[in-house]
This record gives sequence, structure tokens and C-alpha cells, in this order.
Amino acid sequence: MKPVTQDTLANRGMTSEQFYQKILHAILEHRLAPGTQLVEERLVVLSGLSRTKIRPVLARLAHERLVELIPNRGAFIARPSVEEAREVFFTRNLIEPAIIRLLCDDAGGRDIRALKRHITKERKARRDGDRLAIIRLSGEFHVLLAELAGNAILVRMMRELTAQTCLVITLYDAANTPSCPDHHHADIIEAIEARDVKLATQRLTAHLRAVENTLRLEVDEEAAVDLTAIFA
Ligand SMILES: [Zn+2]
Repeated sequence: MKPVTQDTLANRGMTSEQFYQKILHAILEHRLAPGTQLVEERLVVLSGLSRTKIRPVLARLAHERLVELIPNRGAFIARPSVEEAREVFFTRNLIEPAIIRLLCDDAGGRDIRALKRHITKERKARRDGDRLAIIRLSGEFHVLLAELAGNAILVRMMRELTAQTCLVITLYDAANTPSCPDHHHADIIEAIEARDVKLATQRLTAHLRAVENTLRLEVDEEAAVDLTAIFA
């Protein structure tokens, strides 16, 4: 039998980056619900990583506003408020038209093919009824647009915004329609391929509005009225 050395122990676990990706994927696939506690001892056991390796990953997720660190209580998957949910869509509406503009100017045949390959994956997930894959791929489509636009800062922002959108959808989805409608993405690609900035932008903003409209983001008016009555 091989002796257990420092090395073999390390091989049992994963790298910090793999650990980060695992949690991120779980959020993107709605497997980690908002408010879920990430208990450190369990993370140590499951990942094989030490606390000193796990903490910076949790700090990174907190920096991306995907995890909330509460002093003396621990780490929890973030629960964006209605206001934060609206801010996410507001910001996406500012950033994504710029991404579309970059792509209409510069996208080459290879970029269009990459986008179409992604659509094929989305269609397959829908055909297979693979709900988790549909949710994840819907978000990744928007990150892919940013990647192909070739601006690293936009990619980082879109990663964060799509993950936050996933949390928002988990919390506020009214109609149980967990992802981007099927044909919207294909229609956006078609307009990019035709280099029609106006049409591509229109389709994108209509798409974001459609996703936002499936959510119940109205402020609870009744609660506000009750408070007024109390202090009258
Ligand atoms: Zn979409």
C-alpha cells in the first residue's frame, strides 16, 4: 500500500479555482438556493481544501455579491432584494447593448459559429428536458457574447450579472419559466450576423424585458399601507 504523503492528500481534494467554479455552477443551476448557509466544516470535508484555502474563495464570491458573509454567523448564498433585482436588470440594459454594438462591428465567421454552437447546446438541453443545463446555458449565452466582444472587464461584469440574475430568478420567478425563451437568442445572433445594430439591440432589450417581466418585482404596497396606518 502506498504511504499517505502530503502529496497524495493534496490530490484527493480540488484546487481553489475548481472549488469556486463548483459553487458558481451550483448557483447558476439553481442548486444552491438563496439563503443557503455554506457551512465551513462541511465545505472542508467535501472539497478536501483547508479553511485557509476556502475563506478567500468565499471572500471572492462575497465580492461578486453572490455570497453574503455575516460576522459570527457565517457564509450564505445571497438573497438579492427587489431593489437589487431591479438594479441588476437596469445595469444589464446599460451594458449589453454596448456588447451587441461591439459584436456587430467586429464579429467574424468564427464568432458567429461559436454562438450558433451554443444555441445547438441550448436546443439539445431543451429537447432532453435538462432543466439545470437550460438554466446554466441561458446565462452562459450572455457571457459568451461579452467574451466574443473581446473586452475582459465586460466579461467579468457579465459573469457577475448573470449569476446575480440566476439568484434573482430563483427568488422572484412567478411563472416558473426559469430561463431565456428559446428563439430569442437565435434571433439576436441572426441580427448580429446581418450587422444590423439597431435590430440586434432591439431584440436584446426586448429579450431582457421579457425575462424581467416573468418576475414578480412589484413592491409590497399593502405592507407600506399598514405601516402608514400604524403611525397615523
Ligand atoms: Zn438570454
